[in-house]
Amino acid sequence: MAIDFHSSIKTLNLKVTPKRLAILDILASEMAYVSPEEVWRKMKERFGKIGLPTVYRNLEDLAQGDLIIKIIHPDRKLYYYFCHNSENGHHHHFICLTCRKVEDLDFCGLEEIKKEVEGHLKGSIVSHLIQVYGLCRGCKQ
Ligand SMILES: [Zn+2]
Ligand SMILES: [Zn+2]
Ligand SMILES: [Zn+2]
Repeated sequence: MAIDFHSSIKTLNLKVTPKRLAILDILASEMAYVSPEEVWRKMKERFGKIGLPTVYRNLEDLAQGDLIIKIIHPDRKLYYYFCHNSENGHHHHFICLTCRKVEDLDFCGLEEIKKEVEGHLKGSIVSHLIQVYGLCRGCKQ
């Protein structure tokens, strides 16, 4: 099934532009997470002159939903990943540090933390960020 990038962008309350469509297309064609510089290189092939800050800004905008995942890597760089299962509901990701593969963790796992925040701290959770880093099956061997 083809992904409707137009509606993906509209869902984020963003204007649909050729650049945003191209970024989604580039990220969707990758099975791994990519750096903004890598996206920029591919954008230059399509658009000629385009600044890196423009790519950064658009990636930031697009990563506000569940479709584009911003990966805060232990190497202190940012990467982006197109989640092909964002329709399947809220979930988190397992990120391979070696081959850049990303795998879905098909649940949230926030329950324990929620209990602690609401019960013990008497607070309430507004948002959360859970990313798990490691070596995938292939890289572990
Ligand atoms: Zn996912
Ligand atoms: Zn791996
Ligand atoms: Zn969660």
